[in-house]
Amino acid sequence: MNRRTLLGGLAAGGLAVARRANAQTTGGMAVLTYHRFHPGVSTSATTVSTPVFATQMAWLASNHVTVAPLRSSLALAHGTAGVSTTVAITADDGWRSVYTEMFPILRQHNFHATLFINPPAIGQGNAYLTWPMITEMLKSGLVDVQPHTQTHPNFNTERARLTPAAFQAYLDQEIAGSRGAITSRLGLPADLLAWPFGIHDAQLEAAAQKAGCIAAYALGSSAIMPGSPDFALPRYQVYETDNQARFAWLVAGNPRQHPKKASS
Ligand SMILES: [Zn+2]
Repeated sequence: MNRRTLLGGLAAGGLAVARRANAQTTGGMAVLTYHRFHPGVSTSATTVSTPVFATQMAWLASNHVTVAPLRSSLALAHGTAGVSTTVAITADDGWRSVYTEMFPILRQHNFHATLFINPPAIGQGNAYLTWPMITEMLKSGLVDVQPHTQTHPNFNTERARLTPAAFQAYLDQEIAGSRGAITSRLGLPADLLAWPFGIHDAQLEAAAQKAGCIAAYALGSSAIMPGSPDFALPRYQVYETDNQARFAWLVAGNPRQHPKKASS
């Protein structure tokens, strides 16, 4: 069954149809991107409330969607793994609510997630994760920690502000610094980067490679498929307002326009 049929099935109604479609779809890996979580009411576009996240994870479990470690996206992109419909879960920026709200639900379902962090922010104030929280999550085997640069810059702004040589040095330090901090603190390879704000271009991608990264993740609303570029691997931002139909559409890795937008 192709994606068009899956989409049609979901629109026609119901999880029973979705379940059958998922089992037969040969999709790619849909990488879901979260930021903050809130136990009550969402306070920003990219904050997902805990009940909504719990419902989304329960939906994945009840539909037998495979949640895979993000690293497995590399074999898929390189064409050395079979193409099946899988999902990877990521959370950016190292917010403390990843520990208090997201992690217990991951545990409940035994789902893996990758955290992209800015190491200098860890342990700063009450909003961010602490290193002991990160260590505890790592020990569960359900969490991986990867770099998101040191200070979460907007590289377009910095490029306009700095000389070309200064920008290159800044870029190198932002990427290598965050890799080094994670490796020295946690002993992890820290070789998968997430681009701040999803901003990347050829210069940035070359810098990531030079710093020792083997892949980098952006945004872009499509699934990772064989041939997806190593340093611009797409992810989907998940929003609090995503209804069940849109969430199912994300999971299916559908690259076309969202049905809700198409019908409006
Ligand atoms: Zn970020």
